Amino acid sequence: MSQTEALIRQLSEYIDKLELESMLRSIGYRGIARELDIIERVLEKLRDAYKANELSPEQITQITNLKSSEKYNKAREALYEFLDKRHAEYCTKKGIARQGARRAVTRRADMFERTPHCYQCKGELNSRINMECDACGWLICWCGACGCSYGSDTTNP
Ligand SMILES: [Zn+2]
Ligand SMILES: [Zn+2]
Repeated sequence: MSQTEALIRQLSEYIDKLELESMLRSIGYRGIARELDIIERVLEKLRDAYKANELSPEQITQITNLKSSEKYNKAREALYEFLDKRHAEYCTKKGIARQGARRAVTRRADMFERTPHCYQCKGELNSRINMECDACGWLICWCGACGCSYGSDTTNP
């Protein structure tokens, strides 16, 4: 089996295991984030293979189908909804305007560096998983914090 075939098989197996309801009961949102992080890493490798013209049309179709599968999208949307809600709660708590959230734009060059820590709770942030704030562009933490109130409340979290 080629390396690409192995990656596609891995992707398929990981996505097949994504049972949202039972994952929410057993491992919770952070556990789901860990699973999705693994999947995103495999997808990054496949994206590299695609750029290097190493994928056959059949393989590209396979990957496209996996990415549009219900399990994968349900898990991702659930996680995004959760982070969006935490972000909204944080904005309300800090008395700042409610900002939208979007999937983090991971520029290739800074992808691996962009795993900073939250200034509020010191939690780890990951641009593969955490969304970013529409207003400030900072990654949104599990605690809901983004950069919008940075500096104004670091002494009073
Ligand atoms: Zn935080
Ligand atoms: Zn913000």
